[in-house]
Amino acid sequence: MATATTNYELKCVANGHINSAEETTTYCTQCDSVLWVDYDESSEDIQYPLEQLVPDPIKTNPTSLKELDRLSEKYGAAIFGKLEFEHPTGCFKDRGSYIEVQKAMELDADAICLASTGNMAASVAAYACYFNIPCFVFVPEKTTEAKLAQATIYDANIIRIKGSFSTCEQLCREFAKSGNYYLAGDFVFREEGQKSFTYELMDQGGEDIDYIFIPIGCGTNFGAIYKGYKEMKAAGSIDKIPKFVGIQPEQSSPVVEGIFKKEKIVKEQVQTMASSVAVPDPVDFYKVLDGIDNTDGMAMTVTEDEILDALKELAVQEGQFVEPAGAIPLAAFKKHNEKFRDKNCLFVMTGTGFKDTKVVAKHSLSSPVLSPDLDKVINYVNSGFIEMQKESWGKSRDTFMANLKMDEDHERLYNEYVSKINKKGKTLTNNEIEVLQSLVFDEDIDLEYPAEVLDYKLTMRKHGLVHAKVKLALQDREVITEAKGVGPIDAILSGIRSETDNILPLQVDNHEVDILSPDTDSLVMVTLTLSNEGQQWVSKGASPDTLEAVIQAFTKGLAIATKSTSRING
Ligand SMILES: *Cc1c(COP(=O)(O)O)cnc(C)c1O
Ligand SMILES: [Zn+2]
Repeated sequence: MATATTNYELKCVANGHINSAEETTTYCTQCDSVLWVDYDESSEDIQYPLEQLVPDPIKTNPTSLKELDRLSEKYGAAIFGKLEFEHPTGCFKDRGSYIEVQKAMELDADAICLASTGNMAASVAAYACYFNIPCFVFVPEKTTEAKLAQATIYDANIIRIKGSFSTCEQLCREFAKSGNYYLAGDFVFREEGQKSFTYELMDQGGEDIDYIFIPIGCGTNFGAIYKGYKEMKAAGSIDKIPKFVGIQPEQSSPVVEGIFKKEKIVKEQVQTMASSVAVPDPVDFYKVLDGIDNTDGMAMTVTEDEILDALKELAVQEGQFVEPAGAIPLAAFKKHNEKFRDKNCLFVMTGTGFKDTKVVAKHSLSSPVLSPDLDKVINYVNSGFIEMQKESWGKSRDTFMANLKMDEDHERLYNEYVSKINKKGKTLTNNEIEVLQSLVFDEDIDLEYPAEVLDYKLTMRKHGLVHAKVKLALQDREVITEAKGVGPIDAILSGIRSETDNILPLQVDNHEVDILSPDTDSLVMVTLTLSNEGQQWVSKGASPDTLEAVIQAFTKGLAIATKSTSRING
């Protein structure tokens, strides 16, 4: 029952100037402030600023409105979740992308472009792909793999930029001017799509909410949901607007700080595990300020630990796995839970946990790889490790690693690693010590190395292949091999493999390099995924020298692989 309409004006929130969509779909042409869609008349049906409305081709059902029973009981309030991660791309942004893409086509754009921390890229890519309009996404280099995979599968032109979201945004704004491109993002037509949240909620019987909890990045979703309420109230469809609670991570809170100062704040940089809300320059700040002021709402922050805690609680208590930003409402509720007693509370659970599985890996102890041996499995189950792994969640790594008791063998192994690193003249930071400890804790002590690298020499030329000479200790002899590669890692691995392939040929399926601190002498953790005839092994190495970490990971991987294949083959 949605109506498409052209009876609207694009008004500037700051000076009321009327803009035309042909001229701008983003900022006011007079003062560069953000715009909003002002319809000539109120309507009981949701209105969209389009001449024609194609039904959403991807989304089939409304997202669930679910009572979170156990949390309600535990905290003495009626708590509901609107499961916005049920959208086709796992995040509420689809509501807005659906409208933005249609608007871009109506305006005859040759392509859509946008800057995103990942979710919006995935979402706009999906709708642009479906409607056959090219899409350029500018994303920061640190964008999670899952979000990049989504943009890739939907055929977006992905531009990865060294720098933050804000860098991407500035660049994309310039890129948009270089052609007949529609600049998508946290702008006026997205808000029109995302306001459907409110209409959907009312259809589901969600009229009687006292507090609505919304995580804030740019503030666009907050503004959109609030606009939905205002329009429905103006049309006489509802008579109550809940108090709006806007929440940000403490380490990324320009909006919340701005609410207290009553003016927009722009940060140089922000840093939070809730990457979807890591926005230093919140475009829709004034819409949030308006929503909080007019509903007698509130602005608050939550810490990183509180987010982790809420993320876990949603999974364990309610079975809902969300990304960190999606857990922010519960974190805020818990922080001030007395205030909300006996109230009807609605959490906007914005994104799915599958978007960012790294955050889980990073905040829990990883499971050691065991030999396929029942005794070892039973020993492991009784070792207390699993309990510690569960308890490790959300505590700082310092706390649980300090309690980690290594046996003598592992202690010795750990000291070997440290002395090798110290020999290079490097002192380990706390974080590096913890990572190294957990690496060693997972290690198989009885591992026999079929090959070890004694020495190597690389000859590098600026525009040529890299040449590697590697001295290897095999079980019965020492050899020197030579090989070429496109880079030092490739050359050295080719050198090693030219001998070790006779023992067990291993293919490198994947290699990941994790640099643990911003310093140039940072410890580097290399993770290799190796395979042979359909079997796979994962192996890690750590050193301030990337090449050495690669060598460690490979020779260790070979040892693990030979051990497991020799066991299987008798
Ligand atoms: C984009 C996003 C937010 C923040 O929404 P804004 O409109 O930028 O305030 C919150 N959670 C998730 C999962 C998001 O993708
Ligand atoms: Zn203006």
